[in-house]
Amino acid sequence: MRSLEKSNRHFRKAAARLPLGVSSNFRYWGDDKTIYVRRGKGARIWDIDDNEYIDYRLGYGPAILGYADERVDEAARAGMEVGGVFALGTEMEYEVASRISRMVPSAELVRFSNSGTEAVMAALRIARAFSGKDGHIVLEGGYHGVFNEVLWYAEVEDWEPKDGDPEVLPYSDGVPKVIKRLFHTVPLNDADALEDVLKQHHQDIGALLIEAIMGNCCSLTASREFLQDARSLCDKYNVVMIVDEVKTGFRVAKGGAQELLGVRADLCTFAKAMGNGYPIAVVAGREDIMRTVGDGVVHGGTYTAHSVSLAAANKTLEIIEETDALATIEKYGSDLQAGLGKILEERGIEHSFVGHPSMMGLFFSAEPPVDYRAWANTDYAFYDTMAPVLHDLGILVEPDSREPWFMCEAHDVECLGETLDKFERAVDITIDKLSAERNKTRTA
Ligand code: PMP
Repeated sequence: MRSLEKSNRHFRKAAARLPLGVSSNFRYWGDDKTIYVRRGKGARIWDIDDNEYIDYRLGYGPAILGYADERVDEAARAGMEVGGVFALGTEMEYEVASRISRMVPSAELVRFSNSGTEAVMAALRIARAFSGKDGHIVLEGGYHGVFNEVLWYAEVEDWEPKDGDPEVLPYSDGVPKVIKRLFHTVPLNDADALEDVLKQHHQDIGALLIEAIMGNCCSLTASREFLQDARSLCDKYNVVMIVDEVKTGFRVAKGGAQELLGVRADLCTFAKAMGNGYPIAVVAGREDIMRTVGDGVVHGGTYTAHSVSLAAANKTLEIIEETDALATIEKYGSDLQAGLGKILEERGIEHSFVGHPSMMGLFFSAEPPVDYRAWANTDYAFYDTMAPVLHDLGILVEPDSREPWFMCEAHDVECLGETLDKFERAVDITIDKLSAERNKTRTA
């Protein structure tokens, strides 16, 4: 049985100094469940109790090649020799920007940021400046970072279709309520709903933010038709279409979700996979829109294009563009799905996979939900019960069923065999646990 004795002890110490004992709310898994990492290598991480895990979270996606990848780290060390940041540019910015433009045709002009949040913030500001309109639309279930304009969500968990549209609520205390009037939501894959909102409010809406594969909502995926309709509606109503590729970029295809699903954004944002974990992000897009930067729009920051992160991105993108790394990752994801599917089928457990094999959502229903509203009606008790069992067995998946499973190039055949063995045990333990719970409620 896994012991978290040292992590628990460290939690008690850390919680006295850091709120929730961590540096991001999402890393707190409960007073006795919060894990502290000693190190990661390839597809595996070790916690401070020396428990070993095969990791399918990968830091929410960045470690596309695996942790501590020697090729990227060597480049990053060379980046250290450059000296950090100078409040001046370096030549490598042009080199990396050119590679990004080559890989993602819509990325005609590129600016670097430090995090996904910063890149999406910049994209929204640029979109507002270009369109002259302050509001924006987000797809229900979408997540775009920790800043006020996007920290809102459609409350679907206690929602019934007869109630009309779900209520829109702030994700966080401290988000100014006045911003709510800028924020609109529509369900994924519902072009009629999108058109209705635009017909009513287009004079106030400057941007549509789309996660084409919802990396924060079980990889629910936009249909090609929806994306085409959304594209046309944005053109018709003078709305800047922002495809947020913070999770999908340089992962689901060399040209991201735009290449995979055949859509061309006006603006797009990247982070995570582009630096294999080093903090770097990008806002990019159509030349005429991006030219507002420097012509009225402010964009910058002390740490943008830091020499270490930039060198890491240069190497990571070189590997993604010039090798078959993404094909390897996709194949691993497909093999994993086949293996997991077989185990579930043998036990008669209904399930489905969505998204892309490199970032897949696993549902315990025969048909996957089409949008976030439908997700609220799927049975996630099985997933919620199984996730901690997998953790105990050394397979790290997100406890929240909304987070997809991420694959990296370092997931190899040993990882696959071990994952399938442990998944099989976890499923059987979960079946027993749920049936014991049912019996308990029946006899109570
Ligand atoms: N957009 C999307 C689609 C994301 O998944 C995330 C992070 N999970 C962000 C933006 C914010 O990125 P960061 O955490 O780097 O600020």
